[in-house]
Amino acid sequence: MEVLNRQGSRIELDRGFRFGHDFFKLLNFVKSPDHKDLDRHSIEDQCDIFYRDIMNYGFAESHNQHLRDGRYDLAAKNLNEINDLSLDPLTGLRKKEFLNRKIASLESDIYLDSISDFSLIMCDLDKFKEINDSFGHSVGDDTLDLFGKLVLESLRPCDFAYRYGGEEFLVLLPETSLSDSVTVAERIRTAIEQRLLIGHYGLNQITAHDLCKSLIEPADDENDAFFLSKDITCSFGVANYLDCSQSGDDLFSRADENLYVAKEEGRNKVIY
Ligand code: GH3
Ligand code: MG
Ligand code: MG
Repeated sequence: MEVLNRQGSRIELDRGFRFGHDFFKLLNFVKSPDHKDLDRHSIEDQCDIFYRDIMNYGFAESHNQHLRDGRYDLAAKNLNEINDLSLDPLTGLRKKEFLNRKIASLESDIYLDSISDFSLIMCDLDKFKEINDSFGHSVGDDTLDLFGKLVLESLRPCDFAYRYGGEEFLVLLPETSLSDSVTVAERIRTAIEQRLLIGHYGLNQITAHDLCKSLIEPADDENDAFFLSKDITCSFGVANYLDCSQSGDDLFSRADENLYVAKEEGRNKVIY
């Protein structure tokens, strides 16, 4: 996406900027603080959330200085850099380092009554070691990349997904009850099961997401066909903040215990 700053220069916003739309509004907000058509309150809230979650990594000072100087192009560049730093390059999900801040900020939102509840989904890809062992590490990496895309597709813009470990992921769902988060986890589980595939195409082993039908249909030339060779699945543990006596630690251990049960009970399951 590209936006124009007040000086009329084009500012390129990086692909994958999850705050893209909000950021566009944020940029307009800082450009024209007196603009009558903008809902100042909600934009201020968005700015606030953005700053709280993403800033404070040594960028805030220079960012604010750019805004004071009217250098919105540099402010935008700065935000993109912060955004890039906060993302895991392989999966496109947020890095684990940003998780604790987010949980603390959700807890404080509850304390301040600006939200009433939130839930946590813990995900761990099933038998991932076998994928590396059978297909090689690069197919394993591709699987993680596509997994990240499928997770993001299954979430609302206000949800947050993190890469927690090698093939372990966490999702935070603000204003979401236990039963609604189970529905979300089920949606991700089904997307992985049905749309994330590993197989052979010609002589190559490939990972595919929403594989083109034509590739699976019998082709004249055998080298032109895709042969499905492994299903990929994921297990999930879900927990809700209010159900866990409003303790972040309990929320974490409950989701972790549920994930453990999902593995024990045969994997490819959502347990809550
Ligand atoms: P389970 O169903 O019990 O979770 O089995 P698992 O094989 O997924 O679990 P285990 O913890 O034994 O193995 C995790 C594997 O994930 C081992 C490691 O090689 C692989 N892995 C972790 N990070 C990466 C990565 O960045 N890329 C690739 N390709 N593999 C990774
Ligand atoms: Mg694991
Ligand atoms: Mg695993």
